[in-house]
Amino acid sequence: MLTFEHQFATLPEPLWAACQPTPVVHPSLIAFNDALAAQLGMQTRPDDDTLAQWFSGNQLPPGAEPKALGYAGHQFGNFVPQLGDGRALLLGEVVDQSGLRRDVQLKGSGRTPFSRGGDGRSPLGPVLREYLVSEFMAAVGVPTTRALAAVATGERVNRQLPEPGAVFTRVASSHIRVGTFQFAAVRRDESALKALADHVIARHYPEAANAEDPYLALLEAVTARQAALVARWMSLGFIHGVMNTDNCSIAGETIDYGPCAFMEQFDPQKVFSSIDQGKRYAFDNQPAIAQWNLARFAETLLPLMREEGDAVVEQATEIIRGFTACFSAEQRRLHANKLGLASESDRAAPLMEALEIQMHQGRMDMTATFDALTHYTKELGAKALETDTSEQPQKEALLALTTQPDGLAAWLADWESAQQASQQSERLEAMRRANPVVIPRNHRIQEVIGAAVEGDFAPFHALLAAVTQPFDESEEARRLAAPATENEQVLRTFCGT
Ligand code: AMP
Ligand code: MG
Repeated sequence: MLTFEHQFATLPEPLWAACQPTPVVHPSLIAFNDALAAQLGMQTRPDDDTLAQWFSGNQLPPGAEPKALGYAGHQFGNFVPQLGDGRALLLGEVVDQSGLRRDVQLKGSGRTPFSRGGDGRSPLGPVLREYLVSEFMAAVGVPTTRALAAVATGERVNRQLPEPGAVFTRVASSHIRVGTFQFAAVRRDESALKALADHVIARHYPEAANAEDPYLALLEAVTARQAALVARWMSLGFIHGVMNTDNCSIAGETIDYGPCAFMEQFDPQKVFSSIDQGKRYAFDNQPAIAQWNLARFAETLLPLMREEGDAVVEQATEIIRGFTACFSAEQRRLHANKLGLASESDRAAPLMEALEIQMHQGRMDMTATFDALTHYTKELGAKALETDTSEQPQKEALLALTTQPDGLAAWLADWESAQQASQQSERLEAMRRANPVVIPRNHRIQEVIGAAVEGDFAPFHALLAAVTQPFDESEEARRLAAPATENEQVLRTFCGT
């Protein structure tokens, strides 16, 4: 049993609206995250039918008080004053085993006061994609919303074609977004804005409460978390795809997995999303966009800050400028880990830059490259101990990944000279953990969705098992880890809304 609390309901009403889910015809449980449920304090697992009833919204779990949250947002740079949970309902908050307050939310549970023209529903495909990708992110330690349950509705939703429907249950540190602040700010509702900011400080950034200007401290803390988050994404080749301000979590978690994807062949300008025509959210633009979103956040907080006029704008601007330093520091650390170098190494940055050029020009798969580099590092370590001699199969394997082996060989020589000093097992461990073997590759996700639409969920469960053990090197893991062949490549992803 989950013990729901409803702190968000103490905030003024324009920020939320009570709303009941719309029942579905025939709910059936696709997946339930037992480990997460246990963290949330669920001692015994109800039967599948009960879970399907609860997490489709047909019969709410005891204590749930569903509400849709209001928010605004800049979508692809254009401000929309009212978006809000058009197909999602917050059931309540649960204080987990470690004392953290977490939101439990249904997504795809029917229309709400914020639905505008939408049907409030979710097709099965995006539900499975979010389940897989968010649980992978959690497994590699990237801050993210989590997947608690997926339930098939037994109904069809009409998109380009009719598709099976599903309801996703998501757990987040909170669902408060930059857009939530914009929603209060655009209404010039300063009391709602202040209540929201104070709620966020108490909930996510309690240390800010003691600062000289708590709202400035809040801005600084959110900026640091977003900078670290985007650096983590980039270290894995993750492209969010819709970094609108309404999809930018104040708690610094990855949220709203839509047309997101991991890039395979390294390309800094890579875009997957079919709706991102202007390449606004391309791989390399993500830090600048996060910073832009934070500037929008800063604007909403200005009226609450202590200073006024130019002085407060200058203070806030300084913090937003600081994003770059936060991002770079985190990136330096991540890059050093990925390359198996000491975190203070000043070689990491130029080596990574040069490797990115190799990966791009040599059409190298990013994940496979770092996996192979990890293996090669192990091989070098074994060689240093003279348990092995002349043959270097791992080096061969790495060189086989590029169309330009000469360039990569030259890079490897450079990298080895930086590497040599350091063959501690600790560093190798950090390198392994920075370089997953398995990622949820797009063609695999498409494959499991294709099977699920036909009623076969076995491939989904197999892929879920693999991406939640992303450092596993078993044969099955290696099979699912393989990059797409030319025919399998997925060029476009869709929001699925
Ligand atoms: P998203 O692209 O999922 O981040 O959604 C952007 C906005 O559109 C949010 O306000 C959503 O609640 C709303 N939305 C997306 N899909 C639907 C839908 N099927 N029905 C109602 N609202 C939706
Ligand atoms: Mg969204």
